[in-house]
Amino acid sequence: MSDSLIRYLQDIPFAEELAAWASFETCSDDPDGLAHFRHVLHSRFASLGASVELEGDAHLLARWPGKGKPILVLGHYDTVYPRGTLAIQPVERRGDQLFGPGVVDMKGGLLIGCVAIQVLRELERMGPRPIWFLCTSDEELGSPTSRAAIEKLAQQSAVALVLEAAGSGGALKTARKGVGLYELAIMGRAAHAGVAPEQGRSALLELAHQIIWLHELNDAARGTTVNVCVASGGTTTNVIPAEARAAVNVRVRTIAEGERIAAALAARRPIVEDVTLRFTGGLNRPPMERTPAIAALFEHARRLGCDLGLELEEIATGGGSDGNFTAALGIPTLDGLGPVGGGAHALHEHVDLASFVPRTALFARLLETL
Ligand SMILES: [Zn+2]
Repeated sequence: MSDSLIRYLQDIPFAEELAAWASFETCSDDPDGLAHFRHVLHSRFASLGASVELEGDAHLLARWPGKGKPILVLGHYDTVYPRGTLAIQPVERRGDQLFGPGVVDMKGGLLIGCVAIQVLRELERMGPRPIWFLCTSDEELGSPTSRAAIEKLAQQSAVALVLEAAGSGGALKTARKGVGLYELAIMGRAAHAGVAPEQGRSALLELAHQIIWLHELNDAARGTTVNVCVASGGTTTNVIPAEARAAVNVRVRTIAEGERIAAALAARRPIVEDVTLRFTGGLNRPPMERTPAIAALFEHARRLGCDLGLELEEIATGGGSDGNFTAALGIPTLDGLGPVGGGAHALHEHVDLASFVPRTALFARLLETL
């Protein structure tokens, strides 16, 4: 079953097509850049016989018909790199690796999805279920405009397959932490730092207390992390600072733990006299918990991988993806089905080109057999 897939895939010019795709700059906040690449994707899907429509302003939904509940395939075509990045970080092949913005996170995954459908069609091996392939444009922002569409489609689907990059060594992802984003705003009172410092109430002193308290919420045994990732405050060098703020990143394995942290933040009181503080925000992505259905889905993929010479392992990760939304709805979700690579969001972002043939074959076998 797998041999004919592999033979077909060995002739596919993965590196060339991925290099062309990565040469489109598609930062989440660049509507023109996103639109240019969306047209490329649209024609690619259309050439594969899909009916393609726009979900909202910028998300593409490609559909292939079938019987029963669909397989939902998720990917995003936005990147974190602002326009102009290609001038300093060009798309470049070095040996068996391709470097460039978004190659692993996650245009490489989108390519795997497209070619898997291509090979199944060519070999007349499309599975029985409908396939719904959703490509979104705002995942790197936390999916504010695509979340509703993802959840609506997931609720009608049998399973969700997410083409985000593989874990190290090619591992699939069967659990992801939930992501909470909070902002802490502190109001004190300004005063002259030399003439009347006693009349001031330092928002920055309060912030210092709160940062230490927030970091004490870290709980390795529960897998909970709390980090202040941005902080600012004050106006100039001789004024007691009246305002300060901080951005707090929270990661949790379970919804219950997310609620525990939310309650702790809501009940928090200031330390410095006459200062006020307020936390806003909340859980942006619910955790993807490893349910028995997710474990069974992984086991199915692992067996298919064996036939292809892949020794697939599963990992839990602290990073979130759109798979968090589908898993939280109880839809069996398997993530990390994209290529092997590294350096996501960084100067050395790259993919291992040798991973494309076996992982596309794996993805095709999943679509064929689920
Ligand atoms: Zn991604």
